[in-house]
Formats: sequence, C-alpha cells, structure tokens
Amino acid sequence: MPSYGPYKNFKTGREAVDAAPKTGISVIIVGAGIGGLTCAVECALAGHGPITVYESVKKFARLGDTIGIMPNAGSIKIWRYDGVHIVDQIMVPLKAHDGETAEEIQQREEQEKQLRENPAFDAHRGDLHQVLLDYAVSVGVEVKQGINVSAYEETATGASVIINGERHTADLVIGADGVKSKAREIVLGYVDAPKSSGYAIYRAFFDGDLIRKDPLIAHLVEDHVDQRNVFLFPDCHFICAGVKDTKEFSWVMTHKDEADVTESWTAPGKIEDALKVASGFCDIVKHVIAATPPDGLLDWKLVYRDPLPTWVSPQGRIALLGDAAHPFLPTSIQGASQSMEDGATISQVLRLAGKEDVPLALRSYQDIRYDRVRNTQLLGEQVRNTWHKPRDWDNIDPESVKLPHSPALFGHDATAHAIAEFPAAAERVRDRFSMKDVKEVEPAKDAPMDVGGATAAVAIAA
Ligand SMILES: Cc1cc2nc3c(=O)[nH]c(=O)nc-3n(C[C@H](O)[C@H](O)[C@H](O)COP(=O)(O)OP(=O)(O)OC[C@H]3O[C@@H](n4cnc5c(N)ncnc54)[C@H](O)[C@@H]3O)c2cc1C
Repeated sequence: MPSYGPYKNFKTGREAVDAAPKTGISVIIVGAGIGGLTCAVECALAGHGPITVYESVKKFARLGDTIGIMPNAGSIKIWRYDGVHIVDQIMVPLKAHDGETAEEIQQREEQEKQLRENPAFDAHRGDLHQVLLDYAVSVGVEVKQGINVSAYEETATGASVIINGERHTADLVIGADGVKSKAREIVLGYVDAPKSSGYAIYRAFFDGDLIRKDPLIAHLVEDHVDQRNVFLFPDCHFICAGVKDTKEFSWVMTHKDEADVTESWTAPGKIEDALKVASGFCDIVKHVIAATPPDGLLDWKLVYRDPLPTWVSPQGRIALLGDAAHPFLPTSIQGASQSMEDGATISQVLRLAGKEDVPLALRSYQDIRYDRVRNTQLLGEQVRNTWHKPRDWDNIDPESVKLPHSPALFGHDATAHAIAEFPAAAERVRDRFSMKDVKEVEPAKDAPMDVGGATAAVAIAA
C-alpha cells in the first residue's frame, strides 16, 4: 500500500487491522456503495469484525459521473486507502502571491496546508467506488455480491438480514442501501414513499477530447488542467468539469420533469431534449451538450423525501447510513462526503460503547450526526435557491453565487469529533431512552422531526 505526504506514518491495510485491539463486534452492512464500503473499512481499522457486506449488484460497472469529494471526507483520511492514486491529482503548490501582507500569507498557507492534508477533488464515481471496494477486500471485509437482502429483523441481542429465506445475524446491521432503502421500513415502522420534485437532472460523462476538438469550448479543458465551471440560468444550473487531467469530462443540468415518480428513476437522456432545455442559454453550454455522445447522457429524477424522524431501529440494533438516512441535493456536493462521515462515526462509537452496548453506540451515532447532516442538507437547498432565484442576469455579483466555504463544514474531522462527543452524546441518549423499555423509541408515523424551522423536504438525485 503506498504511503503519501502527511500520511506516511499512518499504518494502513492489514497492518492497521492487525494492530487494532479487537472488539469482537460483528457487523453486517447492506449496500456496497461509497457509504457502506467506507463504513466497512473504518470498522475493520477500528478492530471490529467479522464484517460482511451484502450487495445486490453482481458485478459493478463503472457507473455514474463526477462525484465531488470535499475536505471533510478528506479528514477521514480515506487517502490512506490509495494515497498515490487519489491524492496526487490535487496537489496545491505553495507559492508567494504578489502584494500579500504577512498576515494574508500566513492565512493562505494555513488554508493550503489544510487542503493538502484534507484534499478536495472531483472523481469519477466509478473509480472512487472501485478504490473503496478493493481496499475493503484488502483489509479483510467479506463483500458478497449478487445478494439481495429482502427483510430485516432485530432482537435485544442482535440484528439479522433475510437472504433467500435464510437468516444471517450479527451484533448490528447497517442499512447502507441507498435512496430506495428497504432498511428504512424496520427503522421507521412504515413505508416512506418518495415524492416527485418536478425536476430531473441530465448527467453526462465522456472523453475530454470531444471538448478539445471544438474551438468554442476547448478552453474548458485547457492545458489538461481540471476545472469546474458553473453556469446559472433562470430556475436552472449547468455544471461541467474536467476529470483526470481532462482525459474525461462531465456535465449536469437540471430540468423540469413531469413524469410519475413510480417510473424508473434513471433513463437514457436524449441530446436533442437537453438542447431544447438549453435553447435560450449561452453558446458554451449548447456546444458542450452538442459534443456529448448519444450514449453518454443519463436523465435522473430528483425526488423528495421528508427528513427522517429517526435513523435507528426501535431496539437499537439497525441503523441507516448515507443516502438511506439522508439524501442530498446535488448542489450540496456532500452526498458522498457525509456518507463517509457516517461510517467513520459508527466505527468510533462502536469502539467506545463496546460489544455490550451496541444500541447506545448507534443512538449516539444519530445524536452526534443528525443536526450536522440536516444543516448540510439545508446548505444545499440554500445554494440551489440562490442559484435559481430571479436576478439581473447581466449584472451578477460573483461573490453572491459562490459556494459557501464554511470552515465548520470543511474543517470537520468526523473521527476526532465522534471520539470527543461520544461521552456527552451517550449521556443524552441514556437520558432520553430507558434501555429496558424499548417501546419508548417507537418513531411517530406521520410527523417528521422538527428540525429548527427547516423546510420539510429535501430533493435527491435518485
Ligand atoms: C449506480 C449509481 C451511480 C451514481 N452516480 C453518481 C454520480 O455520478 N454522481 C453523484 O454525485 N452521485 C452518484 N450517485 C450517488 C452517490 O454515489 C451517493 O449519493 C453517495 O455515494 C452515498 O451513497 P450510499 O453509499 O449511501 O448509497 P448508494 O451509492 O446508493 O449505494 C447503495 C448500494 O446498496 C445496494 N443495495 C440496495 N438495496 C439493496 C438490497 N436490498 N440488498 C443488497 N444491496 C442493496 C445498491 O445496489 C447500491 O450499490 C450514484 C449512486 C449509484 C447507486
């Protein structure tokens, strides 16, 4: 396993797993997405095991397009998983800027240092997913593919999944099964159906040379330097980005969607339809769409879900993670990063609570994560509303539409935070729940939790 820069002294791979004191906590994870795999790896590194991941997809294709990884996911040090491959493409050279004061230089160097240690970048989702999958297997996680989990059960002492009529049991089960999560049903006690948002999103990914060929848009891949460009239009935004030194290129564009939400959530997109949506937009956008190969475009529905009243099952043995618990708007650029934070948190609270107190661990995980996740979801809504709202389109102040760079969001270290917060969270959980009377934790059926004046719904890319 390669080691890199600030991580060269970290133990990685089997070495780290072998060195970790063993907790004897067995974990089943349903879903080998980015969230489920990060949780599996972090649990292995924290000394838990055996860890089994069940995934319905038999063999992964290189699915998806660009996925944004933010510095808060970098704090989890997933770069240890494959330091050279991921980190090398985002190195920031430290160089002097003209006319800077000593104080400004110090501030910038501090920011750049943080970015080096906790990098942010755009990756192809399929590539990042493969890195995580390979790493999980290398640290002893058993990933079983082509297996569909049909039901969940729990008792006071453990939790089970049902596969082909057979029960498989562990100390806990993590439902990392994505936006269409089946695990939600046992956690909530009812079926939580998605709602139509009235919007969908075109997503495209293809060879960067197709952009290079067109002189009007070749600057988007200039000098083989990856750059992300955002174009704003009334009630619409278009984002395009180079990936892997512009060898590849991707774009996304929101559009109105009248189709029924029960229909397939993802379908091939038609270039002519996307061009119709962009008919009043600038030439750069139209040329990028026209350069897209017909098989390079997908049309994804954006559906609504209410924030969940709880992420943890009544007896505290099953917890939701990632999109299953809290889908994100694409404008948050946090879906993957927050699912990684979930996994890092779960691994630590399990270690701190121990095998005897798994329900305390999972409820503390929710206590530690809930408000941060909700605030981050709201940030995504705020960005979407800011971008889409009517304005004087000829005189936009660039500062007013910048993505918020919140130190609280990006500077967060989920592992350190979980360790620091666990004692207080556990105390609050003990106060709230009588561990003997599990009936107290039954979630309310129709009333989503009051999240401090938050809007009741979030939109998600399904
Ligand atoms: C195919 C795909 C492509 C995507 N492409 C992009 C993209 O291009 N850009 C972007 O920003 N985001 C994309 N996303 C979403 C993004 O990956 C997630 O928002 C983020 O990584 C958090 O994901 P997650 O691990 O919580 O869930 P997911 O990534 O949705 O993973 C859930 C996993 O659970 C498995 N699963 C579901 N039900 C069962 C069951 N009953 N039994 C066993 N396994 C089950 C699914 O097959 C899936 O692999 C994509 C997601 C998917 C599934």
